[in-house]
Amino acid sequence: MRAVVTQAKGVMELADVPEPAEPGAGEVIVRPRAVGICGSDFHFFLGELGAGDGSEFPRVQGHEVGATIEAVGPGCRPELASGDRVALWPLSSCGRCYPCRIGRSNVCDNFSLIGIHEDGGLQERLRVPQSQVFKTSETRPAVAALSEPVSIAVRTVNRAAVAPGEHVVVLGAGPIGQAVCLVARARGASVLLVDRVAGRLELASGVETVRWTGADETAAVVREWSGGEGAAVVVDATGVPDAIRAAVEMAASAGRVVIVGMSHHDVPLRVFAFTEKELDVLGVSCCQGDEFAEAVAFVETHSDDLERLITQEFPLERASEALRFAMEHPAEAMKVVIGTSD
Ligand SMILES: [Zn+2]
Ligand SMILES: [Zn+2]
Repeated sequence: MRAVVTQAKGVMELADVPEPAEPGAGEVIVRPRAVGICGSDFHFFLGELGAGDGSEFPRVQGHEVGATIEAVGPGCRPELASGDRVALWPLSSCGRCYPCRIGRSNVCDNFSLIGIHEDGGLQERLRVPQSQVFKTSETRPAVAALSEPVSIAVRTVNRAAVAPGEHVVVLGAGPIGQAVCLVARARGASVLLVDRVAGRLELASGVETVRWTGADETAAVVREWSGGEGAAVVVDATGVPDAIRAAVEMAASAGRVVIVGMSHHDVPLRVFAFTEKELDVLGVSCCQGDEFAEAVAFVETHSDDLERLITQEFPLERASEALRFAMEHPAEAMKVVIGTSD
């Protein structure tokens, strides 16, 4: 069968690989139909997520997967059947470490993600534990694949404990920022989305938007928008130091700042901002299983809003080109999706 294999840092190519073995107990074989590309795929492709010695390669990438079930192994839950449409939760955890023991298995010390630590969706068939398979009624695989970025948004909004009527500012109008806006809006929040790029703001639906004009100016805009109090919640979906500094300044006293954007940068922050305001600063990684289920349900009811975010689709054999396009054209490429089979 065909697979797209990241052979080494910066080298992704179409290859012929063996079919997976028959599904064992509690396992299913799925046929990936659509795979979304995101920033963590760039980091992996560029060798920034491994140990630095190339030991993470070769790897089949793809962790945002809309698929159909091909075969169900013994002992799986009875509602899973061949032909079912599903979205894949990329994460599995050890169940033994400190975060697992306290119910935070999404940040398990030994976690494994498909497409990063084990082979993912950029191939014609994939064997996965049934626990990572979630049925969906969404008929468009590319939209079903958005369940994964939406699950990060659900996690973000849960960590922020967004309440109806609260002012929520989202910095960064990429796919995660856009998804956070949709989920926060659905929770009844008043949402303001901020980005440097006007074209990205135009893809937002049902929320207010403003151009980023520098940390001080944008913080002043947010203060006015929130009636002078600052925002109850500020979400950074950029990972950019200036934005994170601004997030801390924009937040209301007793507010929450949630960091979901990934980067290796250091950020100097004014210590008084935390003590004066008693800010809660929260990080977000992947989601929990119940949050993935919530994301799948959210996608089913907000598919039109999410479909707008899919800006380019490529066939499997052009996966390498798709990844490079997404990396090199951040203003045009909101969500690039690779269709893996007809
Ligand atoms: Zn992703
Ligand atoms: Zn663990």
